[in-house]
Amino acid sequence: MARRRQLYEGKAKILFEGPEPGTLVQYFKDDATAGNGAKHGIITGKGVLNNRISEYIMLRLQEIGIPTHFIRRINMREQLIREVEIIPLEIVIRNIAAGSIAKRLGIPEGTRLPRSIVEYYYKNDALGDPMVAEEHITAFGWANPHDLDDMVAMSLRVNDFLMGLFAGVGISLVDFKLEFGRLWEGEEMRIILADEISPDNCRLWDSKTNEKLDKDRFRRDMGQVEEAYQEVARRLGILPEAGNGDLKGSETMQ
Ligand code: 5GP
Repeated sequence: MARRRQLYEGKAKILFEGPEPGTLVQYFKDDATAGNGAKHGIITGKGVLNNRISEYIMLRLQEIGIPTHFIRRINMREQLIREVEIIPLEIVIRNIAAGSIAKRLGIPEGTRLPRSIVEYYYKNDALGDPMVAEEHITAFGWANPHDLDDMVAMSLRVNDFLMGLFAGVGISLVDFKLEFGRLWEGEEMRIILADEISPDNCRLWDSKTNEKLDKDRFRRDMGQVEEAYQEVARRLGILPEAGNGDLKGSETMQ
């Protein structure tokens, strides 16, 4: 593989310079962290699975007109993406209480929320991604009200679509986190969906048993993490069979 310039290394992904201007290569690692990096581990095969799951979801979203940074998958662990200026916000959409909302507001985990709830977090590792309000976002200039409206509208469309997509394969979409970026085309700026959508940043529960099929298995030391990610991929029709060994094969396979 030709040596490429590494631009950024995050907890679960690395960004390399892309083959053409305006593109990047997004590499999916097996590393997993929780508690803002306090806990670290390797989930064998996670990067390969997330690359495939995120590709699948980004393509389905593009089909319904959501603009995303995804261009194409390059190999088992890498995808070509558009270079964007990441907006330092994490937009979380919740349908069922779990995780931080359950803890913060004392709502029993599993309670269906009266409607989908949108939350904003300031993307800043040093501060532990604190929750913020629209006032902070606009006052500090992270996004203007129009751009924020755009992101919320897209997030709610993503939620509606993904709830249906996952319901069709027996999975409840509990909550998820999205990130957006600014794409400049000359003087024109568009906001597009960035990052990834995978069991690393979604809570996915089996619709019948409520079994967790996401990163909470790692966060809560429940074991069978890779198997859960494989199950999501299998249900989405990405993996032909449960536990398909091919996924652990050559890193350069298409
Ligand atoms: P919570 O606020 O309950 O911890 O997380 C809500 C949802 O957003 C969960 O699906 C969780 O996976 C996702 N999420 C929130 N913050 C992050 C983050 O910094 N990284 C990742 N991968 N997911 C996050």
